[in-house]
Amino acid sequence: MRFDVLTIFPDLLESPLHEGIIRRAIQDGHVEINAHNIRDYAVDKHAMIDDRPFGGGEGMVMKPEPIAAALAQVEKLKQGGKVIFLSPQGRQFDQAMAERLATEEEHLILLCGRYEGIDERIRTNLVHEEISIGDFILTGGELAAMVMMDAIIRLLPGVLGHPDSASQDTFSRGGLKYPQYTRPRSFSGQDVPEVLLSGDHNAIEEFRLVAGVRQTLERRPDLLGKVCFTKKEKKVLRQHGLEQAIELANQAIDG
Ligand code: SAM
Repeated sequence: MRFDVLTIFPDLLESPLHEGIIRRAIQDGHVEINAHNIRDYAVDKHAMIDDRPFGGGEGMVMKPEPIAAALAQVEKLKQGGKVIFLSPQGRQFDQAMAERLATEEEHLILLCGRYEGIDERIRTNLVHEEISIGDFILTGGELAAMVMMDAIIRLLPGVLGHPDSASQDTFSRGGLKYPQYTRPRSFSGQDVPEVLLSGDHNAIEEFRLVAGVRQTLERRPDLLGKVCFTKKEKKVLRQHGLEQAIELANQAIDG
């Protein structure tokens, strides 16, 4: 998969791309990431990329010509690609969106705003999709672009060590993941649940299902509307008094 990131601060992307799983994904050729400095496409002699808003008001707005020229150059280098503007006004990014983009797209062009944002005519004419990473305001789109790329890249085939890792994650089936433990068996007066040491795979699977659902009920009951339990899972949940979780999941199916 290929990402082209349009930004006035390309250095902001440097460190996250050179660590851990993302670095390996780039090295192994699963992903290519190119940062483009919008300032290089400024048209006037002062290399201006922003200007005062028409109609007055606080702050500066990113000028349309440098962004349009940068987009044209990226599209010339590689035909096609979906242009995404990172914006607090966009649709909220979530795991389902990361999965959709990871499976359906081969080339994403991520446009990062700064200041008060970009000229509206870029948004209406050249942007295919607008995505927000949450209901808060960042100083720029670079960290949002990085968050999106990170979530998408780890879903690409071959990137994670174990092919099932991502499908076991929180949100992948809708709810929260079960709690996890590692050595030592006893820490701070608390022991690892006995069942996890038993080697009984069915019992471990059951424990994890129940613990994950309990955690979801306590912390994010809203997510249960996205879960579809199998008959076998429902039976186990009933045995543990978790009918409420089944009802919440059923309500979403009925609704
Ligand atoms: N004045 C704009 C508004 O009220 O909608 C906010 C501009 S913000 C200070 C500058 C840039 O940061 C935005 O153009 C966008 O690219 C990025 N940004 C800010 N918050 C974001 C968010 N929650 N998700 C994605 N991008 C965001």
